Amino acid sequence: MIELKNITKSFQMGDTLVPVLKNISLKIERGDFVAIMGPSGSGKSTLMNILGMLDIPTTGSYLLNDIEVATLTEDELAIIRRGEIGFIFQQFNLLPRLAAWQNVALPLIYSEGKLDFEKAKNLLEQVNLGDRLYHKTNEVSGGQMQRIAIARSLINSPRIVFADEPTGNLDSKSEKEILAILRKLNDQGITVIIVTHEEEIGKEANRLIRMRDGEIQSDERFVPLRTDLEKVAPKTYGSQFSWKEILEHFNQGTRTLAANKVRSVLSMLGILIGVAAVVAMLALGSGAQKSIEDQLSAMGSNLLVLRAGNVRVGGVVQESGTRIRITMEDAKAIKEQIPGIQDVSPNVTGRGQVTYLNKNWNTSVAGVTPSYARMRTSVPDFGRFFSDDEGQQRALVAVIGRTVARELYGTQNPIGTMIKINKVNFLVIGLLPEKGASGPQDQDDRILIPTQTGMYRLFGKNYVDSIDIQVTRKEDIDGVEESVKEAMLKRYRIPVSSQDDAFQIFNMAELQNAITQSSKTISTLLATIAAISLVVGGIGIMNIMLVSVTERTKEIGLRKAVGAKRNDILMQFLTESVLVSFLGGFMGIVLGWTITFTFSIIIGWNASVSWQSIALAFGFSVMIGIVFGIYPAHKASKLHPIEALRYE
Ligand code: ADP
Ligand code: MG
Repeated sequence: MIELKNITKSFQMGDTLVPVLKNISLKIERGDFVAIMGPSGSGKSTLMNILGMLDIPTTGSYLLNDIEVATLTEDELAIIRRGEIGFIFQQFNLLPRLAAWQNVALPLIYSEGKLDFEKAKNLLEQVNLGDRLYHKTNEVSGGQMQRIAIARSLINSPRIVFADEPTGNLDSKSEKEILAILRKLNDQGITVIIVTHEEEIGKEANRLIRMRDGEIQSDERFVPLRTDLEKVAPKTYGSQFSWKEILEHFNQGTRTLAANKVRSVLSMLGILIGVAAVVAMLALGSGAQKSIEDQLSAMGSNLLVLRAGNVRVGGVVQESGTRIRITMEDAKAIKEQIPGIQDVSPNVTGRGQVTYLNKNWNTSVAGVTPSYARMRTSVPDFGRFFSDDEGQQRALVAVIGRTVARELYGTQNPIGTMIKINKVNFLVIGLLPEKGASGPQDQDDRILIPTQTGMYRLFGKNYVDSIDIQVTRKEDIDGVEESVKEAMLKRYRIPVSSQDDAFQIFNMAELQNAITQSSKTISTLLATIAAISLVVGGIGIMNIMLVSVTERTKEIGLRKAVGAKRNDILMQFLTESVLVSFLGGFMGIVLGWTITFTFSIIIGWNASVSWQSIALAFGFSVMIGIVFGIYPAHKASKLHPIEALRYE
């Protein structure tokens, strides 16, 4: 079953290669009970590790069931190790976080994908620990620990059990118990190979091999090899990926995190803050954008605003007396001559000192035409707007904004009352809809009166300050802008040299685009900053995972010794880091939602967390768990079983 030919093993110590095993040739048959004895440092453990496939020889050939071990990959070794071999260590190597039965069942994760309680219970009963199933390993004695370890070595029904000084750390009573168990196993047909210091134990074995300085010194047989064992078929080994295994890693990961609560929470903190920031930024950003868009559309859409510019003659700005003055007639002409225009409103603007009874208020007063109400979404929600006739008659009527109403009237109804604007009496006929502040400008702090009233009775002008032009279709807006400019230049016969500056036309659509664009840029920027904090959170996770890998080197060594492949270890640590980032992400979403909710109440924005941003945050945090967990997990998976086990 086992055949060693000229095995050597050397260790690199600094510059020199120290030979530890020299030319060992050895054959061990099925069903044997072999003891290996020798002074400390003679290479017994090194030989056991090679036999147990935890380590590979430097030269020589090792055939296990006629398979040359040297030709196997690390994962193939792991698979044979868990199927064929049970290993019992002097140091027990139990995992302290797990209960006795879970320690026993541990190798099953890698062979069957899940811990099987019944199997573990059975084996623990066989080693007389049926009453210690749920004890943690630090709650039992040394002898009991070793019996748990023996039960673990048997969980995959191995054909060979290796025990490296299993009683070295135990009292003589426990020693006898352990020996009895091993004897019983051998009676069941399991090959037992034991390294020991005790002459007594050596004498108990069927065959005793003595070693000295890495060589076999003697090889005696006390009991003839049994011949009653039937031939057995070689084991077949499955090694498929299984979700059950991931689930088990998940279970154990949760326990690991729970055992280290403060650290777990700290490692989640970065992701938590990052996700909360992303969620809140996206929600508040889109809320802000929406409120900006609302305000913009309240200003009117598809609008051009025409104003007179500064005409230069010979490079000198003309005196104000000779400046171009736009008139009501211009407005009329534009509307009649240029196709694609829905409506126009010639406007005048100025300041007005307004009084009602003993209240005083200074506000902006605009002379507009009735079409303005539709174009600028200023149809009064109480009272009415003035009519074209009232405009023609220069009627003294006013529609007032909310701020003006509040300042002059408080909660009283202003409609039907008389106010004075710059000492002229006006009848209040309507109340403008609330528009809210846009930047430093309060759009509700204004009074609208008919254009002609404003020109002739309030400001004393025979011209208008601007003409609002509403274009019927959005696509035409640039074309209409050109036509208006051309028509105006023609009407005023502006020389070619001054044409650029003669008139200014504001394109509100362009302005709106620019504002929308910049608000988008700002929210993208905020989201980017939030994303950076996510990355920082990820680095935090990586850091903690690296510490965890180092701390748990021994555990990794043990897991590999009982049959974990590289991918099993990789998956285990990846599951843990994803778990951390997932939990962090979850709490981050809750926090982000809370922040959004609080802010939208305080500021009054209509901000809400969208499903997309939750999905994004979740996806992101899981991805960060994978990306930043992969390096530590990879590092763990590459550990060499024996070196990891020896790590202190
Ligand atoms: P035993 O189990 O018989 O006491 P070991 O097989 O553990 O002896 O060790 C034999 C010799 O090999 C010792 O001198 C030990 O220092 C050396 N040795 C074992 N493992 C290593 C290693 N990984 N690196 C360097 N030297 C080692
Ligand atoms: Mg040893």
